[in-house]
Amino acid sequence: MKTFQIKTAAHCCAVDITERIAAALKEISALNGVCLIYVSHTTAAVTINEGADKSVMDDLLETLDTLVPWQGGYKHAEGNSAAHIKAVLAGESAQAIVDSGELVLGTWQRVFLLEFDGPRTRTIRVQFTGERGA
Ligand code: ZN
Repeated sequence: MKTFQIKTAAHCCAVDITERIAAALKEISALNGVCLIYVSHTTAAVTINEGADKSVMDDLLETLDTLVPWQGGYKHAEGNSAAHIKAVLAGESAQAIVDSGELVLGTWQRVFLLEFDGPRTRTIRVQFTGERGA
């Protein structure tokens, strides 16, 4: 398993972590298999989606804000229930195929950390299962 940290810069934002994942796979000589990308926090998420047009992530974050407003009469005393709910909706992990040491992503796909209660330092874990090279 490889672990790295990302400092997010806003309350809600999407951070492209594709190159960090690729670097982690190289460090462990991942060759062919599957990697799990996991964020070990309850108010952040990981997803794979379009990275070519930044407005796609803007639209995603704005839509989640509409669906799950920050003020919502929630019971959670910490006051960040909206962030927890968004994290559940988006999910704490994503999987990607690794072929010949490279992440297999579509033309427009990138791996994103989604921050819902930042700015914070987030820990990302990458677990590779499969064949390793030399
Ligand atoms: Zn909380």
